[in-house]
Amino acid sequence: MSPIVAVTIAEVSKSVAQAKRRGQSVGYVPTMGALHRGHARLVEQARGECGFVVVSIFVNPTQFGPNEDYSRYPRTFESDREICQESGADLIFVPERETIYPAGPLSTYVEVPGLSDILEGSIRPGHFRGVATVVLKLFGVVIPDTAYFGQKDYQQQLILRRMVTDLNVPVEIVTVPTVRESDGLAMSSRNRYLNPEERVAARVLSQALAEAETAVSAGERSADRVRQILARRIESEPLASLEYAEVADAATLEPLRDLGTGRRAVALLAARVGPARLIDNAILPN
Ligand code: AMP
Repeated sequence: MSPIVAVTIAEVSKSVAQAKRRGQSVGYVPTMGALHRGHARLVEQARGECGFVVVSIFVNPTQFGPNEDYSRYPRTFESDREICQESGADLIFVPERETIYPAGPLSTYVEVPGLSDILEGSIRPGHFRGVATVVLKLFGVVIPDTAYFGQKDYQQQLILRRMVTDLNVPVEIVTVPTVRESDGLAMSSRNRYLNPEERVAARVLSQALAEAETAVSAGERSADRVRQILARRIESEPLASLEYAEVADAATLEPLRDLGTGRRAVALLAARVGPARLIDNAILPN
């Protein structure tokens, strides 16, 4: 069945209330559209676990910096609708900007200091404030039981987990593993900015992570040496420029010195490849 397309909050509330009256649990996948198989995996997981599945498509202006790609972010509604249908969404919420920000700038924001200020947050100041605030607003509209986020945006899902814990938001957060192209590149709406040559070069992120994983599996215990492996591999690609290569505690993102001490570690990368800013990460072997 083709999903309902809702533009107003009232339409969402009505359908969700009906679903709840039928005794269905509500699963929710917030997105910015330009959907791909990564998003589809989130929707499929929600479909498998919940009675009623909502996907939102909203390119949220407040999470983009002044020189970022808000205005050229791809908007591909017809194809998004097909992907939502194929992956089993019941309702697509496509609000206008004015529906989410009716009175212009807000007076209330959600900040998750610390976690929001490092890595992505240090390069994109205000980004996570925009994300956390709009996700809480959207939770207030959809009122889901469970919300699904991608591991690809590792720091984001940690921040949102922290937000729901700190604010007693009754939504369970589920993190879904990163979906990749056959050559390892993490799927991203921003991959479509890459020309064919840059697309090949973009493989270097997942290759660097694979090399780090191999080193750790072979016994490497120095987080610094793993950072070096990551950085050198990115720097070996002339079309890529490294923004950060970090090895951190998987729960707190605190930079680690030693691996194999029982703390789960995550390797996180950001690099520019041509016009695209790409991120990727991998949980390192124990
Ligand atoms: P976006 O539309 O880029 O804001 O992403 C919406 C959701 O899809 C976020 O929770 C992302 O982490 C998730 N997502 C994006 N790319 C992938 C991917 N390759 N694999 C899994 N989840 C993804």
